[in-house]
Amino acid sequence: MIECKPAVIGVAANRPRERVQDAFARYIAALRKRPVQRWTEFFFDAHQFDAEARQIVDTARDVFVSRGVRLDCVLINGWAEPRAGIMEPARECPDFLRRMSDYARERLGCGLGLHVYTTGCRSSALRDWIAARFDMVYTEPGPQGRGAYCLADPRAESLLTGNLGRYVREHDVRMYYYDWGCFGCRAGSHRGHMPGYGTEAIADAFLRHLQAMRAARPGMFLCDTGWFSPGGSSGTTRCSSPAATGTPTCEARRPTPPWIFWALGATT
Ligand SMILES: [Zn+2]
Repeated sequence: MIECKPAVIGVAANRPRERVQDAFARYIAALRKRPVQRWTEFFFDAHQFDAEARQIVDTARDVFVSRGVRLDCVLINGWAEPRAGIMEPARECPDFLRRMSDYARERLGCGLGLHVYTTGCRSSALRDWIAARFDMVYTEPGPQGRGAYCLADPRAESLLTGNLGRYVREHDVRMYYYDWGCFGCRAGSHRGHMPGYGTEAIADAFLRHLQAMRAARPGMFLCDTGWFSPGGSSGTTRCSSPAATGTPTCEARRPTPPWIFWALGATT
């Protein structure tokens, strides 16, 4: 007997004016729960609620909002640094999210979006702290090598979902931007899955997490950066590449063109 998750198998033409992806796009459109909508965000890097962060927000107000551009959220990158736990505000600025949320609401008329180091594999994540608490996936020799926590570990899933869910409820978070994820695990001793079957368990854990975020705020924009392919079918809201040329950078420290996303809506 073969037992597996639900799957869809389709057959389509693959000619110059009718590619397989065209048929797949029609299939997705047929299942779509919500109409396509544009999502406009202003993206910048902030570690503290300081004069510089406020100046960037003020400039965004002058450049966009005062000219009639309605922002859906201001997306903050780097907010969880210096490193602390799993996606927690830096100890130096524990009330960062509340203050930034209030300021964005006041100056830009929008809520917050937060960039997420999904499984802690970014070099700036607090790896020793993570490794001491969770089952780990090492993609280079450890314990100091490049690694991530196994999201199938129920302790890690619980902490990630608990933290991000709390921010939705307490700080008007409208969007999570899931980046830096590790979705493959073949470890033989992890508590969250059988030996060699971590990838499916991690995908299931991520789906539960996404559903919890949507439960916390229906209409939440859950954006996948491409690490969790296929984004559209994994519960995230699939997004396009930036409409503007170039991408905002931490170093530039200046307002950048907004990223334009077209939400296809959840298909699950
Ligand atoms: Zn694992």
